[in-house]
This record gives sequence, structure tokens and C-alpha cells, in this order.
Amino acid sequence: MTFTGNQGLRIQEPLIFEVGRNDTTGVDLEEPAAFASRLGGLARKTPIDLPGLSEPETMRHYVRLSRQNYAIDLGMYPLGSCTMKHNPRLNEKMARLPGFADIHPLQPVSTVPGALELMGELSRWLTTMTGMAAVALSPKAGAQGELAGMMAIRAAIAARGETRGTVLVPESAHGTNPATAAALGYKVRPIKAEPSGFVSAAAVREALDDDVAAIMLTNPNTCGLFDSEAAEIAAAIHEAGAYFYADGANFNAIVGKTRPGDLGVDAMHINLHKTFSTPHGGGGPGAGPVVLSERLAPYAPVPFLRADGTLVERAEDCAEGEMPFGRLTAFHGQMGMYVRALAYMMSHGADGLRQASEDAVLAANYIKASLQDVMSVSFPDHHAMHEVLFDDTFLKGTGITTLDFAKAMIDEGFHPMTMYFPLVVSGAMLVEPTESESLASLDLFIAAMRDLAMAARDGDTARFKEAPRYAPRRRLDETRAARKPVLTYEGGAPVAEAAE
Ligand SMILES: *Cc1c(COP(=O)(O)O)cnc(C)c1O
Repeated sequence: MTFTGNQGLRIQEPLIFEVGRNDTTGVDLEEPAAFASRLGGLARKTPIDLPGLSEPETMRHYVRLSRQNYAIDLGMYPLGSCTMKHNPRLNEKMARLPGFADIHPLQPVSTVPGALELMGELSRWLTTMTGMAAVALSPKAGAQGELAGMMAIRAAIAARGETRGTVLVPESAHGTNPATAAALGYKVRPIKAEPSGFVSAAAVREALDDDVAAIMLTNPNTCGLFDSEAAEIAAAIHEAGAYFYADGANFNAIVGKTRPGDLGVDAMHINLHKTFSTPHGGGGPGAGPVVLSERLAPYAPVPFLRADGTLVERAEDCAEGEMPFGRLTAFHGQMGMYVRALAYMMSHGADGLRQASEDAVLAANYIKASLQDVMSVSFPDHHAMHEVLFDDTFLKGTGITTLDFAKAMIDEGFHPMTMYFPLVVSGAMLVEPTESESLASLDLFIAAMRDLAMAARDGDTARFKEAPRYAPRRRLDETRAARKPVLTYEGGAPVAEAAE
């Protein structure tokens, strides 16, 4: 133990309240002249107790904290279902151009033709890649895109004079799918995953009746497999008068290879922050444009851009045949992300986007092939798409869990993969390398995973149970942190004790 608690650059940093003092820094303002408060009884009676820090103290506090954070710019981030890929700096440069970065949403439309043209161009790329008729740009995350797509479906069914109350959701679905359906008041009818990991058209047909409004299907699915019966599923869904919602979070595996429109998809959100780059994680930013088929296009929410470039901001301004289900956001969505996504698309070109998908799939299959003799691949007989799913079968009898394995990865310098999701296999470990890792980086990851898998087999339990040993904090009580979060500073507890 060192005097400061530091180990070289592994920094121990107190809370900002412990660094700052509220009596030493600040601005001297003159006492205001006597005035009558208009706050009624609501004026604060106690000091606000914000910590006072000088500028260098503030800078140091946040820079020191940032050095405890793992990031895609520090190393491989193999989270499955999240697509943590390199974000080209060119995109950042474009997004900071003052003509895009400094415009105000209430500026007169006549002063922002460039921004509208960019949104139009982005829309053309998205509808061309997906083979769909229209796109609603405004949703601010994948989950809100799901909501927008499902609201368009509900509006289309209502326009036929029908009400339907059930949505089909495969068991392997991302949690946002059943949550979206439930938030809109639908009953969720689960569809069992086949032992092969696929969703079968037969199972969908069996679950269909005339109360079903839609199916929500992720393709490629969260087992990392391409559901090859998607077109057959679409046909069965349409025959029953329902709609096909596709969760497009995994679109980065099929860009330039398959168009969802050709599979019979009616609505699909695209996570621009996953497929077309943008730094994300930790809650944002996100953008989840939803592409719509010919049948759903009329129900897209306001505001929207017509194909001819004119802007429709209010339902009252709609032409005949435009029947927006309403409005999701005050303005047009995440402009900075539109710029990043279009910069990513244009700098790759159509062929480059296709190659990015191919390389992402190749990288995942390389990991699968390199580790399948020491770790258990859940669906070994099928090619993986952009991510490969392992389960905990290879840890059986060792006393080591998926969680222990993930903690040991932290000691090896990697962010853990996605754990315990999807729920359809035991102790899931979902690995997505993305196209942006070099062969050398993949080889290092594979070698580290092999070493860990062998250590587990050879009974080196301590390496896992005591991990992470080389992190500023060891094992946290994650359950208590989630159930009883301490969100206000009340003074007292030493930092190390509170965290460990
Ligand atoms: C990430 C993800 C979502 C949700 O997207 P957000 O942008 O995080 O709201 C939905 N479905 C799948 C399969 C995802 O991976």
C-alpha cells in the first residue's frame, strides 16, 4: 500500500464533495438590495452545499475520474448486442461544423436549407439500404424508434376500423421489444426459441390469430444468427392482417447484403449509434430513425421531410394521404448524429459499408472458430453473424460462473462481453468484436480467452473468484447498488469501504 493509495497511474480519487470545500472558492457578489421574495414558502432555507473547487482542481478531478473509465479508445470492447466500434474522428469534425452545430431548432426554416438537405440525403441512404418506402428520423434511440414503429402500426390498424390487442415476441428478444408492446397496452405473446436458436415460421403460424397486431423480430437475432425463415414469417403475418416489426439494432451485420424491405418488413428502427458510429454507452446520445413500408409510410409522426424536400412540422399542414399518428419529439431529433451517420456512410461509400458488415461477420466467426475447442459455442453448427454466443457449459464443475469469468477479463485489460443475455442459454457470453478490430487485436483477445478457459479447466479458481485484482475497485455489491442506490452525499464513509 502506498501513502496516497495510488499504484502508479491507478488513481484513487475521492468524491467531489471530499475534494471541494464550500468556504474557500467562489465569486464575491455584493449582497442584493432588499427585495420581496416571490417564492412563497418555497425558498431554500439551508445552504446549497455545492462543493467549491478552483478550475485546476475541477479539471484534475474529472480527468482523474476519466482515467478510471474503460473506453473504446483504450481497448477492445466486445459487448454483444451493443456494437461498440471505433468512431472515426472525421465524423466528429463534421458534426462540429458551426453550420450544423450552432443552429437553433426555432430558427426560421429558410435559414437552414443545408441541414434539411443533409436530413434528406440521410433519408435517401437509409431507405435505399433497407429497401423501404419512408423513414421517420425523429426518434432519439432504438427504443423510441420501436415505439414510433409500433404506434404507426397501431394507427394503420385503427384506420382499417379494427382493434387488435396482441403482439408476438420471440423469447430471445431484446427487453425493449416486449416493453414497447406492453407500454402501448398490448398483450405480449411469447414465441419459444427453437433448440437451434432460430425462430420458426411454424411456431409463428401457431401463435397467430385475428387479435395479433404485429410480430417484433430481431434479425439477425440476439443469438447472433440470421433467421432464414424471416420472409416466410412475414408472409404468414401479412396473411393474418398483422404487421412485421423488425428490430434493426443488428443491421450492421447485413448492410449491403440484405434489404429488410425484401424480407417483408413493415417497420424497423436503425440504431445510428450502433450501425453508423457515434460514441455511445452510458446513456447516450442515440438516434433511432424508423424506416417504414409503403403501407405504414402515411402514419409517420410529425415533423417529417417529404421526398421533395419540403418540411411538414404540424399535423394541420398535412396533405391528403398523410395521416401522422402524432408527434414524438419537440423538434427533428439528433442533428449531430445525423451528421455523423452521413459522414460515416459517405466516407465508406456503398461498397465500404458492405465490406464493414462482411468484416464484422468475419471477425465474429474467427473468434468462434478459434475458441470453440476450449469454450462452449451455443450454436456451433451455424455461422455466426456479427456476434458469437457462448454459454457456461465449459465452466461446468469448476465452480466458476460467467460473472467470475467476466471479472477475470477485466484483469486481462478487456471490457467484459455481454453477460447473461440472451436468456435462452445458460450463463450467456455474447461477444461482438466489430469490423474495427485488427487481426492482431483479435488474436490477443483470443489468446487471453484461451488462457482463461484453460485456467478454469485446470482449477485455478482463485484467479476468477478474486478478480478483478488490477482495477481501482474489486467486486462491488451490484445488487445493493441497484436496489439501494446512494444518490446523495451525506458525508462520512471512507471511499474504499463504501465501494468494496
Ligand atoms: C440496443 C438495442 C435496442 C435498444 O436501442 P437503444 O438505442 O439502446 O434504445 C433494441 N434492440 C436491440 C436488439 C438492441 O441491441
